[in-house]
Amino acid sequence: MSVSTAAADQSVCAPLPVLGRNVTVPLVTGGEVAYAALDYAASAPALQRVWDDVAAYAPYYGSVHRGAGYLSQLSTDLFENARTTVAEFLDCRADDQVVFTRSTTDSLNLLARALPAGCQVFVFETEHHASLLPWQDAAQVTYLNAPRTPRQAVETLERALADRDPYGPALVCVTGASNVTGELWPVRELAAAAHAHGARIVLDAAQLAPHHPVSVRDLDVDWVAFSGHKLYAPFGSGVLAGRADWLREAEPYLAGGGASRKVSRREDGGVAVEWHESAARHEAGSPNVIGAYSIASACKALTEAGWDTLVAREQHLIDRVREGLAEVPEVRILSLFGDDAPRVGVISFVVEGWNSSHFAAALSAEYGIGVRDGLFCAHPLVRTLLGSDPQTQGECGAPEAAPGEKSLNAIRVSFGAGTPDEHVERFVSAVRELVTDGAKWTYRTEDGRCVPAV
Ligand code: PLP
Repeated sequence: MSVSTAAADQSVCAPLPVLGRNVTVPLVTGGEVAYAALDYAASAPALQRVWDDVAAYAPYYGSVHRGAGYLSQLSTDLFENARTTVAEFLDCRADDQVVFTRSTTDSLNLLARALPAGCQVFVFETEHHASLLPWQDAAQVTYLNAPRTPRQAVETLERALADRDPYGPALVCVTGASNVTGELWPVRELAAAAHAHGARIVLDAAQLAPHHPVSVRDLDVDWVAFSGHKLYAPFGSGVLAGRADWLREAEPYLAGGGASRKVSRREDGGVAVEWHESAARHEAGSPNVIGAYSIASACKALTEAGWDTLVAREQHLIDRVREGLAEVPEVRILSLFGDDAPRVGVISFVVEGWNSSHFAAALSAEYGIGVRDGLFCAHPLVRTLLGSDPQTQGECGAPEAAPGEKSLNAIRVSFGAGTPDEHVERFVSAVRELVTDGAKWTYRTEDGRCVPAV
């Protein structure tokens, strides 16, 4: 059989073809419009290429690691080859392991369960909850205050590590690109600081991997975690890749078939288990072969499209959105590291006099634009950036923050390799129009969300 890989047919500067690019949605004001998906940071649309690859493979789908049949063997090969593709995509070291998980959250929880006894964990309060929260029950955690420059991030980490017990194991967890500000973190410098103090480092690349090449070797990180659904492969898989030793020495993440090499009854009536030492140790149960295969397909598609082209195109979109928003005085873009910080296509902002939920609902209902509003699973960071206590939620429909007052949540626009220029142009003019003319419709709150009143 041959699993076709649809050739990338885009010209150098065109967006990569994604599913949903022809979907139209109704507007409350009448008529339909092509949906502008500008919430890539939550979940990106599937690449057409990924969809085609999965569709071509689907008839050949079979059980992995167990079956003697042809399709089982083929599926096992594809599953194992997917590990190799991911290892190449991440430029892993030869002895690194690639474990398939469900998501970044799952990957980081797995690593938290694999920490050696007495491990100290260092994490900035600015992290997404997926990298902020898994460590508390597994280790002694030091939460580091939000830095206001990349340099300050490195200095803060260095100070914290200098105070630690130098003989015990330690792990630093850091994001590559913020899911709130889109700003890039100084990963290489943080890795150097961690290693200089005998600590290891895991990179949360959930927002970085879809936008920039990630090299484990170049950044010198010990592990990388990312999610398929943010990397144009929404089939329920994620990745944890990196050093094998802690993973090999840890108890399996889940106990069950696939993770166990040999199981026998013991004389005392119990059961003795020999666990695998490979990545399979943490992949008990039937693996998500389509999820893994789709991630590998996305890795190939992005690599073949060329990172220089993808990054340049995205930078053009970032510039357009930032310039457009800068022309609206009522808009304030949220930033930790300042205007000049390098960033990916993730931009959060507040609009003076507007409830963010109201604004996002109007973008959807009146312009067919899908963005996100709220605190983006990074409550401490958004709280710092807004300078507010977001325990208090604003009322939908009514202006939440009068001029001069602080907003209680934010709006996030995010985009990537599949975004056409028209989507960001429509977004920029919609923001301008809403601020100048107000919403054309009325809105109400339903189950805590702002929705059109009719
Ligand atoms: N890390 C970052 C920076 C994220 O933005 C997200 C999701 O938005 C996650 C981790 C969690 O990803 P997932 O929900 O796929 O587990």
